[in-house]
Amino acid sequence: MVRHKLLTLCALSGAALLALAGCGDAATARATWHGARPAAAQGRSGTGPVDNTPGRPGTKASPPSKPSPSAPGPSTPPASPSVSPSAATVENLRLAELKTGSNNVALTFDDGPSQYTPQILAVLRQYHVKATFCLIGVNVQKHHDYVQQIVADGHTLCNHSWKHDLHLGKKSPDAIRADLQATNDEIHRAVPDAKIAYFRAPGGNFTAQSVQIAAQLGMKPLGWNVDPDDWDMKKYPEGPAMTGHIEAVLRKRIHPGAIVLSHDGGGPRDGTVTAYKALLPDLTKRYTLVPMPTT
Ligand SMILES: [Zn+2]
Repeated sequence: MVRHKLLTLCALSGAALLALAGCGDAATARATWHGARPAAAQGRSGTGPVDNTPGRPGTKASPPSKPSPSAPGPSTPPASPSVSPSAATVENLRLAELKTGSNNVALTFDDGPSQYTPQILAVLRQYHVKATFCLIGVNVQKHHDYVQQIVADGHTLCNHSWKHDLHLGKKSPDAIRADLQATNDEIHRAVPDAKIAYFRAPGGNFTAQSVQIAAQLGMKPLGWNVDPDDWDMKKYPEGPAMTGHIEAVLRKRIHPGAIVLSHDGGGPRDGTVTAYKALLPDLTKRYTLVPMPTT
């Protein structure tokens, strides 16, 4: 699958990529075009807080591409979500909303929809939690029914680009606009009147240009400030290691106003599902969990 190809790419690239862009370990990241990882984030294994922590370094330098909203099928380029979150600097993320604006906490789920989306939806439903789903166009194409379920359950929608091009924000305005519009169009094929209030740049690589274009399309930039690395199966292998890591990070770092990054797509997400099953009974007692507001 795509994920494995990308992870292999990452692994094969080894130290060079780690030095330049990182392949998942924040502490090893140096700099990419996205910039250097901020000190606060680098110290996450130490004692410092990690609020406003951006995502992990990116890996894949996606070639320029055009969205292909009207060309579903075998020729549709695959999404490359599993490397998300990518290298994003504080500067990248500062272009986006990093807090809910109240004491409420927002759970956000990226890179879907996927086969794991119904499981996430089920656990959210069980605890009466509304969240925000950042959807990838090519995945929407495959799972209109899951998008419909997300909307029916009252969650907020967010455009996460057509195929998770980590370099989208550096492309031409026309290319950015086409990508975001194609994604919105595909979501609207699933749910014609769906409100898409947010845009989350792949990897958190917001640029002034992409934020401006998203605004013209009626979308606010959505960042995050708590990140449990639930995508990083190289560092936290699937199973108890991943689940335990997610639980530990979220129990410790969720705070009033937090926007929490998690993933319901982009790779095996059993760890995320299991972690939220364990976390939500407690989180729902400690915080009011809200979808990002759409007005
Ligand atoms: Zn993503």
